[in-house]
Amino acid sequence: MNKQAFSSVVIVMTLCLVIGCANLPQIHKNTNLQRDYFAENGFGEGVAVVQHPAGEYKNGVTYLAYQGPKEDPYVAAYNHATGEWKGPYKAGVSILGKNPRGKIDSHGKPTLIIDHAGYIHIFYGSHGGVLDLHGKNALGDYHSGENKHAVSARPYDISEWVDLDNVSPFGTYNQAIKMENGDLYLFNRHGAHRSDWVYQKSTDNGRTFESPVSFLKHKARADGLGTDSWYPYVSKGVGNQIVVGFDYHFCWNRNAPRNNRGGHSTERKNLYYMTFNTDTNEWHSVDGQLLSIPLTKEEADAKALAFDTGKNWTFNGTTKVDAKGNPHISAYIGEDIGWQIGGPKNARYFRWDGSRWNGNLNNGLPIGRGDFLSSGDNVSFLLSGIDSQTKRTSVRWWESNDAGETFTQGHELLQFKDDWDDRTSNADSLRPKSLSNLDSPGSASSSFIRNAHPDARIIIAEKADGTDYRRMYLVGDNGPVVRRD
Ligand code: ZN
Repeated sequence: MNKQAFSSVVIVMTLCLVIGCANLPQIHKNTNLQRDYFAENGFGEGVAVVQHPAGEYKNGVTYLAYQGPKEDPYVAAYNHATGEWKGPYKAGVSILGKNPRGKIDSHGKPTLIIDHAGYIHIFYGSHGGVLDLHGKNALGDYHSGENKHAVSARPYDISEWVDLDNVSPFGTYNQAIKMENGDLYLFNRHGAHRSDWVYQKSTDNGRTFESPVSFLKHKARADGLGTDSWYPYVSKGVGNQIVVGFDYHFCWNRNAPRNNRGGHSTERKNLYYMTFNTDTNEWHSVDGQLLSIPLTKEEADAKALAFDTGKNWTFNGTTKVDAKGNPHISAYIGEDIGWQIGGPKNARYFRWDGSRWNGNLNNGLPIGRGDFLSSGDNVSFLLSGIDSQTKRTSVRWWESNDAGETFTQGHELLQFKDDWDDRTSNADSLRPKSLSNLDSPGSASSSFIRNAHPDARIIIAEKADGTDYRRMYLVGDNGPVVRRD
């Protein structure tokens, strides 16, 4: 020990004698380890409403999936009784995200569901597949990636994963549903944005899947200006039923006179709804008319239209049914102000009351992303968006007691602190600067976690600028679930 170190020890010992060592600050123990987020390696969007479920609560544990570095899927788990976190573990390797100079794609964000035997499944990695790798896509076009399916090596254990890869490589925007008898349905778009939407069914806990079945048809428009295309949100209905809320994508040809947006844009309009009886394989409109699948634009307009958005553009929210089987649709709707993304979109809500659709474009809900609960005339949206006062991202409830006609601000569960420096945006590098903050809720949100515990309802990815990484939060009625390890 040198002279200086010896002096330090003497000083510390003297201090101990004078004030008592118990009162000395524990300089080697970082008391700031407790944090509101469970991971800092969310990447790109991290999560989104459409790739769902992003998590499931089962036997006292919330299991979560998100997109991490290089667009690979990561899985973490939180034990509600012990407060212990496990992971995140890398659960597979995507072929997206491996070009360090490439744009972040984010279409392959993982979807997670637990089968009847307790194995945890994730589906991830595709933006429509690749002709050279996967051969001809009979149901649509191509873009990139490969849809992959992995399963936990052991039930309820996220530490080791096995590739199954037994689903179509073209599928993107995975949405997984488990029926009460354990049948698994994987819904996705079978290719890039000019493709049918399909489902694949498994009756053996995901070990094998039947061939894809188309339920929404892409086809050239009769006016020659583009292609009919769709964006659905699928969820489990009552009993043997699966329900689908969907909007129509105007996929203009590059040379279409109407088109000034260079072909594909996020122009989507109208809200539609239909149901799938998984016992009879029949599809119906909300008022019981039989639908033929894959559904065409013409038949959708005639039988399945729930709301005509007019000149406004829309973006999918969640669709679900209540205990009576009546459907509720959420969507993000706003004016078309041009370029590729339209304008800012506020959360909107529509419900079928047994004889007609209700809802409006002036319900008081903000720009944000999230999910909702409904019970009788009470509707509660949990949204992550930019607070109009503080200009910071805020995750809060919005409450209605008049069946969703009007909403008012409710409890705030989380507000992002401004402690990630250098918030200059590159997160939305695709957008012109002038638009970059208009439609951005400042964060990305998942749908509600499957069978969510009230303490852990939703995953929020903090969109800190100046980096492609995201802090990942698990948020419930007591705010963010803290992590202390
Ligand atoms: Zn398109």
